Amino acid sequence: MKNNNLIIIVTGPSGVGKSTLLKNLPSDRFYFSVSHTTRPPRPGEEHGKHYYFISRKEFLEMIERDEFLEWVEVFGTFYGTAKSEIERAFSQNKHLVLDIEVIGATRLRSYFGSQAIFIFIAPPDLEELKERLIKRGTETEETLKERIKRAKEELKFATWFDYVIINDDLEKTKRQFFSIVDSELCKPFRNAQWKNLLNSFNFI
Ligand code: 5GP
Repeated sequence: MKNNNLIIIVTGPSGVGKSTLLKNLPSDRFYFSVSHTTRPPRPGEEHGKHYYFISRKEFLEMIERDEFLEWVEVFGTFYGTAKSEIERAFSQNKHLVLDIEVIGATRLRSYFGSQAIFIFIAPPDLEELKERLIKRGTETEETLKERIKRAKEELKFATWFDYVIINDDLEKTKRQFFSIVDSELCKPFRNAQWKNLLNSFNFI
């Protein structure tokens, strides 16, 4: 992966609106890393676009073969980022975007180092998050409780991230996301135009 491409790790509670933001990023600039999961697809979710939906047995075999960069088990479901998915992304000249939960994100900080940026998407408040999960219609009373409990735990980690975006308005969230990308690209160690200029002056 070229130095001036970003690895953008996005985390946030389930139902906060990450998918709506990330699945619609311009595909000529952003490569969305598709995770493997053992949970069944929700209405409208496509294999290979939202997730690779595989069985528990297949997932365990992939762990056994050391095919994951990171994986977790949450809500009784396995989620993981396959090494092959990252390799595919690296072969393209695009920013890599990963949508993963907190534990996976902390693992990737040590793996990618300063090449990666970490963005936490937070709900305006927990009531709103609950409303969104209910409206989505994918949760039972039990799983709804679990997701809210986990959301509270995840929110405590938000200050560990490089950026926090409060998703109270999708257009504003998109603007802030692109502003972060633009700012990060201006950092001297990533700014390709700047590096060329320095080279031309023979400073480095
Ligand atoms: P959902 O079931 O709502 O699609 O996702 C539940 C949680 O799993 C979300 O917080 C999502 O970010 C996280 N997740 C999805 N894919 C991965 C992955 O590959 N690794 C990790 N660590 N978390 C993931």
